[in-house]
Amino acid sequence: MHDMTIAELAAGLRAKQFSSRELTQHYLQRIDAVDPGLNAFITVAADHALDAAGAADRALAAGEAGPLTGIPIAHKDIFCTDGIKTSCGSRMLDTFIAPYDATVVEKLAAAGCVMLGKTNMDEFAMGSSNETSWYGPVRNPWDETRVPGGSSGGSAAAVAARLCAAATGTDTGGSIRQPAAFCGITGIKPTYGRCSRWGMIAFASSLDQAGVMARSAADAAAVMTAMSGFDRRDSTSADEPVPDYSAALDDDIAGLRIGLPKEYFGEGLDAEVAAAVEAAVKEYERLGASVQQISLANSPLSVPVYYVVAPAECSSNLARFDGVRYGHRCEEPRDLEDLYKRSRAEGFGAEVKRRIMIGTYALSAGYYDAYYLKAQQIRHLISDDFRRAFEQVDVIMGPTTPSTAFTLGAKTADPVAMYLNDIYTIATNLAGLPGLSIPVAPARGLPVGLQIIGNYFREGQLLNVAHRLQQATDWHRAAPPATA
Ligand code: GLN
Repeated sequence: MHDMTIAELAAGLRAKQFSSRELTQHYLQRIDAVDPGLNAFITVAADHALDAAGAADRALAAGEAGPLTGIPIAHKDIFCTDGIKTSCGSRMLDTFIAPYDATVVEKLAAAGCVMLGKTNMDEFAMGSSNETSWYGPVRNPWDETRVPGGSSGGSAAAVAARLCAAATGTDTGGSIRQPAAFCGITGIKPTYGRCSRWGMIAFASSLDQAGVMARSAADAAAVMTAMSGFDRRDSTSADEPVPDYSAALDDDIAGLRIGLPKEYFGEGLDAEVAAAVEAAVKEYERLGASVQQISLANSPLSVPVYYVVAPAECSSNLARFDGVRYGHRCEEPRDLEDLYKRSRAEGFGAEVKRRIMIGTYALSAGYYDAYYLKAQQIRHLISDDFRRAFEQVDVIMGPTTPSTAFTLGAKTADPVAMYLNDIYTIATNLAGLPGLSIPVAPARGLPVGLQIIGNYFREGQLLNVAHRLQQATDWHRAAPPATA
């Protein structure tokens, strides 16, 4: 059952080949058997899942089922879940039980999805390898000595290892696309504002966006349709109609104009990754697309700009974790100041502290103009590059990451080397554009991701373009050894 697509599972449920309860039990058993080696889950919510599966079975019997009714999924542990621990990968929230569901969680539950549990992640979504989690690193199901990517590494590993049919993720600078690339799955970060951020613990509010990690574009389309849409509780959510992303998957892509940014194929890109991406682009030409070189001239500045903007916003967002209202509180504080200092010193890990310090510095009087304001100006230039590119092309393609998954510990001592993992993904977050990663030919046995970037609110087109490749090739069907 765990190798079936979401559409096949939905058909099997309707045809009574299996019930949602049986399907849920099957996935829970797989998690029990496989996850000790991966550490993809922080919390497994078996009772909750079996209750939801029971409700789904009743809806199916009553003929009230939708395309996701009874489908087992997982949520990144950044989304608040009513009555179930929401840790955000941090000691700070190790005992936090949210009193409400995030909008994305609520919408997917309303669509009939069964939540199996909460997936591991870099602490407060800060990282590219899942090694900053308080709950320990996640291992890549393709090679357990390697990282799964981050920060949505638990979701990526769980989907790749077939421990759930799909999972949610969040992407502030690449955290859906980069782990999708490292784990050989399909991951989409929609346009900023497409999915509500309400109940999604904030890292950098002007960049954070929820999205889907799945085994194919068709599976991702079904989940995207259910979780997108305006939410009056999130003032930055977009009041734009949500199309049925599944309906346009088969659209013809003959005549599609693909742009290849020359900045994404230069120094620092692994030769085998480049070759795999070029082979996929050739396949698109065979499907009737045309290819031209473009330039995103300011994209090399995206990493430095991000590492001013994101820490600045995080230093402000994380100020709320002060040991007073919720979250970790130190033992026997001497006075209020001691309470703040020790609760934060104990609750946050090293990378989170580093970001808070950088952000506080960048926003401080006298430095604001030199850092934050300057970064926001360059952010405009980066968006302008994309605006000009989309006058010439329909989609932009390139590698998702410069290399394949690296070994655990390889970059933990060098934050800048770690940050450079997101060199191709961050610019889309700065511009608020949608981006997707799909698996292409592996390099030395490890997955490689092709990134496809689209214009605002064109996630339907991205899923269509990805789906057409997945109809013509088998790259997305490869399964890691841990799935046996
Ligand atoms: N790797 C980037 C960071 O560490 C992006 C993280 C993310 O997208 N949440 O900030």
